This record gives sequence, C-alpha cells and structure tokens, in this order.
Amino acid sequence: MIAQPLILRVAIATPLRRLFDYLPADTTEVKNLQPGIRVVVPFGRRKDIVGVVVSIGNKSEHPQHKLKKINNIIDDEPIFNNRHLDLLIWASNYYHYPIGEVIFTGLPSSLRKNNTINEFNEQVWYLTEKGIATDPNLIKKAPKQAQILNYLQQRKTPVSESEIKTIYDRSKQSLLALKSKDLIQSGTENITDSVIKINKSLFKLNKDQEYASNQILNRLESDSVFLLDGLTGSGKTEVYMTLMESVIKAGKQCLILLPEIGLTPQQIQRFRDRFEVNIAIQHSGLSDAERTQYWLNARSGKAKIVIGTRSAIWTPLANPGLYIIDEEHDLSYKQQDGFRYSAKDMLITRATRDRVPAILGSATPSLETLYNVEKNRYKHLILSTRAANAKPPKFRLLDIRGKKMHGPLSQMLVDEITMHLANKNQVLLFLNRRGYAVHLYCHCCGWKAECGRCELPYTYHKAMNRLVCHHCDVIKPYVKNCPDCSEPLLLMGHGTERIEEVLATLFPKATISRIDRDTTRKKNAMRDYLEEIQSGKTDIMIGTQMLAKGHHFPNVTLTGIVDADRGLFSTDFRASERLAQLFMQVSGRTGRGVKEGTVIVQTYNPEYPLFQQLIKDGYNNFCNSLLQERNHSSLPPYSYMVFLRAEANNVNDVKQFINNAAMQLKQITNNALLLFGPIPALIEKRSGRYRYQLIIQSSNRKALHTHLDSWLEKLDHIRGSKKVRWSLDVDPQDMA
Ligand code: ADP
Ligand code: ZN
Ligand code: ZN
Repeated sequence: MIAQPLILRVAIATPLRRLFDYLPADTTEVKNLQPGIRVVVPFGRRKDIVGVVVSIGNKSEHPQHKLKKINNIIDDEPIFNNRHLDLLIWASNYYHYPIGEVIFTGLPSSLRKNNTINEFNEQVWYLTEKGIATDPNLIKKAPKQAQILNYLQQRKTPVSESEIKTIYDRSKQSLLALKSKDLIQSGTENITDSVIKINKSLFKLNKDQEYASNQILNRLESDSVFLLDGLTGSGKTEVYMTLMESVIKAGKQCLILLPEIGLTPQQIQRFRDRFEVNIAIQHSGLSDAERTQYWLNARSGKAKIVIGTRSAIWTPLANPGLYIIDEEHDLSYKQQDGFRYSAKDMLITRATRDRVPAILGSATPSLETLYNVEKNRYKHLILSTRAANAKPPKFRLLDIRGKKMHGPLSQMLVDEITMHLANKNQVLLFLNRRGYAVHLYCHCCGWKAECGRCELPYTYHKAMNRLVCHHCDVIKPYVKNCPDCSEPLLLMGHGTERIEEVLATLFPKATISRIDRDTTRKKNAMRDYLEEIQSGKTDIMIGTQMLAKGHHFPNVTLTGIVDADRGLFSTDFRASERLAQLFMQVSGRTGRGVKEGTVIVQTYNPEYPLFQQLIKDGYNNFCNSLLQERNHSSLPPYSYMVFLRAEANNVNDVKQFINNAAMQLKQITNNALLLFGPIPALIEKRSGRYRYQLIIQSSNRKALHTHLDSWLEKLDHIRGSKKVRWSLDVDPQDMA
C-alpha cells in the first residue's frame, strides 16, 4: 500500500475566502505538524509568507503534483491551542469574513512575521551580591528605585520585567538606574509563574454588591451570563474585583474588556492596586514588542488578568475562568470596518464555549441584552443603591422655544449655573459637537460652505481658524466672505468652542475647561484635565461624548445637556436607544458625591415622548416600550440583520450593484429572506464616494446565514462589481 501524503491546509492573510493546500517540506518531521503551528510558504509571486496550519488531512481538490511544499515550520508548538483555533474558525464562518484575515487579526503583528516565540523571552531582573547587601533605605532619594530593590529582596527569586512594571508603573528608568549602580542584573531565563498577592478591598460590599457577587460566585463553574445592571458609581467594578479574586485564587485567568474611552491609566491602576499579579494590557496604543509580550503572557497563563479594548477579545488564554465586559452597550465594541466583529458577542460566545461565566456590566444595557434577560437567557443582577450613598439626580426639561439665549445657552440655564457656582460646586455642560459653528452661509445668495467630497457642511474651528469636514477630516482655510457675492458669511449652529467663548464672557472669574478631541490630542492632556477637575480647580467643564462616560466628578451638582434634540429625528432604528443611553450616561456624571445633582435638558421638543417617558419611568421601563416597538416592526432583537454595504464614485454604479446583488440573493434563497435596498447610508456621501446598503433580514438566524457564503462568491463576478467597494456587516450596529 502506498502511504497517502499529508496535506496541510493553511490560512494566509489574503481576502480570499479559503484555505490553501501545501505538502510538507522534505525535511519536515511529521511529528512536529499540528493544527495551530505557523509555517513559511511560497504564495503567488511571493517566496516566503507566514501561514497558520488549520488542519491536516490527506485529500486535496488539487492534483498532488500541483501542490507546493512549505518552506519550513516556525513553531515547535501551536501558537493557538485547538480551543482558540476553533473559535477563530467559528468567527470566520459567522461573520463571513476570510479565514486568513480572521486568524491574522488574532495575532500581534510581530507574530504575523517569521519570528519565533523564543525571541520574545522576557527580561528578568535579579539582585547582585551588592544588591542583596544594600539597605533600600540608603537610596531614599529615589523612592521608586528603593521600592523595587526592596521588592526584589522580598521576592528572593528573579522577577520578570512585566511583573515589576505591573506593580511599579513606568519603572524602566528605575531599573536601568539600579543596574548602573550595580545593584541588579538582567537575564532572559524563563520564569514560569509570578507570585500572587491580592490586597484586601478598602470597604465592605453593600447588600446589592454582596448579593450579586454571591450569585455569580455560586456559578463560577457554569457558563451563565449575567447582566450587572447598576448606575455608574453603583460599585460594579468592586463586584468584578471580588469575583476576579476567587477566579485567580483558583489558578484561572480573567479577561476584561473596557470601552475605548474607559481604558485609562487610572482604571488600570485600580486593578494593579488590588491585584499584584501579572497583568496583560491589550490596546492599540502599545508598542509592538509590549503587545506581543502581553499576548504571550496571556497565552501561556502567566498573566492572570487581561485588560483591553475591543481587539483584546482575540487574546488567547491558557486557563480562562471569567469574562467581563464593562459598559456593554458601548459602540466601540463593534468594529466598524474590515472585519466587522462584535467584541461583546464574541465574549459571550467565548464564555459559552469555555464553559465559564460572562458578566455584562452597564448602567444602560442595550436592548439586545434586556431582551435576553426577558427570555431568561441572562440573569439580571441589579445594584440599586449608589455605593457611596449618593442620590440619583433630578431631571428638568427646559423648553427654550422663544426664550432669551446667550448663543447656545438659555438665560434660565445661565441662572442655574450662577447659583451652583455660588455654592462652590462644579458644573458640567454637555454638547456632542466640536468646533465653533456648524454652518457657514451667505444670507444674500444662499451660498454654503460645504465639503465637496461629502456634500455636508464644514465646521468652523476658531482656535485653528480653519474649516474642517467632520466626515472625511479634510481641512480648508476659513473664509470670512462669500466667494460669490463678497457678503460677510453668517455662522450658525454651536459647537463646544462657542460655548466656551460665551461662558468666558458671562463668567469671567470662573475656570473653564473645554474637553473634546481638539483639546486632548496631546499625550496626558486628558489626565491633566481630569486631575484639575478632581482637585476642584475647574469650575465649569464643557465636554463632548468623551466626558460622558465613566469618570468620577463628585463635586458636579449641575449637568446641562445643551442640545438634547440631536438624534431625535434620525432614520437609524437604534437612534432612540442611543439617545437614551447618552442621556443617562451624561446625567450619571452628576451628584456622585454626597451632594444632590440636577440635570437640565435644553430642548425645542419638550413634548417629545422619549424625554417624557425617560424622565418619568426611568431607563428600563423606557426600554421595555422600545422593545415592544421593535417587536411590532420585527426589528432586532426580534429578527436578525446583515447589511451589504457598498460604495462607489458614481451613484448609479453603487445602486445597480446592490440591485444585482439583491436579485442574486433572491434566486439563491428562493425569496426566503426580507430584502430592503438600495438604501442610502446615514452619511450618503463620504470622501467623494456614494454609500448605499442592502438590508437582509430574517427572524431565523440560520436561514439568514445559510446562503450568504455562496452568494458572496457570486458577488465578485456580477456586472459592475469592479467599480464598487463592498463588504458584509453581520449584526450591524449603526446605519452610518
Ligand atoms: P462602577 O464600576 O459601577 O462605576 P465603582 O466600582 O467604580 O462603580 O464604584 C464607584 C465608587 O464607589 C468608587 O470610588 C469605589 O471605590 C466606591 N465604592 C464601591 N463599592 C463601595 C462600597 N461597598 N463601599 C464604599 N465605597 C464603595
Ligand atoms: Zn453670497
Ligand atoms: Zn468631507
């Protein structure tokens, strides 16, 4: 009998939706071949490209003499264990995204190249003879060095650099200084485990926190999903940390996702203060080397805690014990281009597959999550009291129709601000719009300053003295006069810069901070602002979305929502949900200390049911009626959606592509799915390209997904497809 040759099925980072078959090299030892190892292969015109072996078999669709051989194997052991590799394959199938791209998304960029894991063996530090004999008190002048020296003396063994950095933030300089004093030395031996020290919480959990913790503690061995529902400041993070303590003591790992805006150094420090264990951080601001090191620590089990933003969901864990996602409703968990995954849905999928609990935390849970609670799929745990005995804020709708205004601020709001400042309290004004003015137009001839590529108005940024398109980021010089008739242009619509200007005139003695993307570009700018606010130096802060989430401002007693009407009349079916969430988040900044807070909402639509109901019935009841509406109109979560998004320079090309695509799909599915389109995206034109969508909908998830792959194969070949850029968005989160 002739032995069958082994065929390696290899994933490569290309847009092609398939695996590629290779033969082992002549020198390959068969025992080294396993799914999950990386190999170097010739591909197309390229001689050596990195691939990941997904499976090994002995059949190929191609005749054997046509198959190429791999060049060599990179890894001695799989870079992903089977559990993780299966998860990536699952994600590729579910999101109908090319398997190679999905697998390579899950790798830090250093490992997408031909580097072995051993190249990342971490530096370890240990004491020299002199270091053992030196009293740390003798280097008091450099407190961090003294602490590190003391720590190494306590530990007695070599300690990995990541462990030291975990405990002593930004400690590289101190390490080098100790080395130059000949007190410590570095090496690269492999340390297998790090010491675990868990500090006690500073306070006793309150009743709600204790009940919630116990409920989850009892189910740590199950794959239950929990909604931890509590106002901002109700102590959710304390509950997470209590559970993490148990999980880590049981030798397992925790993965925590935070929204992009929530992953601040302070937040990380809070975990570091409590857990003196190896912590892996994953976010896009890290250097390649750092990111790879952390990733490998998570993979090997050395890191007990992994904290990160959206992409951290792809970090492999050796021994998972708990998955947590904070502010689960946050939009930053959905990738909005390329591989459009939802980190939240992946987290729940991961937890279920690993048979460990998942916790979704939020003060304003998404409708999807509330729906799953109603269906008894998730357990609802409520933290009703604010931890520090703070009272919930009082709401007031301010009808500003026909009222005296100072730019964007009504006289009534100004009076309130005066009062709160007189009582030595802080005020927060919220407006989700940067810049000075949103429209520039000519009163004489109607000329408008518009971005030609997006057909939307430019925003005037006074500090820069420039016009900026907020959709494609193009920047143009500011023009004072109409280019057609030379009349001075009018400035309409207010942004944060304008509020700042108005306040500076009305309250010349107050310290005012404007916090938006323009003022926080510089590194540490945000941190400095927050410190100023916390120290009480700031009297009034003006903020966009950036300031709406997650911060602690105990002395803010008045929050003003300057323009509540934006988003009321959007065609996106999630607009009401998002507006309610933002509304609640902003008000959550108020009265977090012992002082009671007031939220004032300026609106031209005081009778609008959304405001009335939200204020009267609260968020959860409001969401129940939204859910009923969704049910009646068969919208998610009562049905499942996929978008085909397409864009092209010519509007007819894109419409025609969508029409053809829809026709194809109708044929394949025998009209089993609901199709709507071509529908223009909320931003119909961006950077000169017209953007349209085909909405594909079904109440049966399986029916929806079954035919998509065969349809996608056809899309590349339909007429006109070369002129459009298209992508699939499974479970889309917005219509922009
Ligand atoms: P959340 O994560 O829900 O926003 P946190 O856990 O950050 O809430 O708690 C808000 C504040 O209250 C924090 O400063 C925290 O230290 C404090 N806190 C939390 N739980 C308690 C408690 N049981 N007793 C006293 N203070 C608490
Ligand atoms: Zn004009
Ligand atoms: Zn533009």
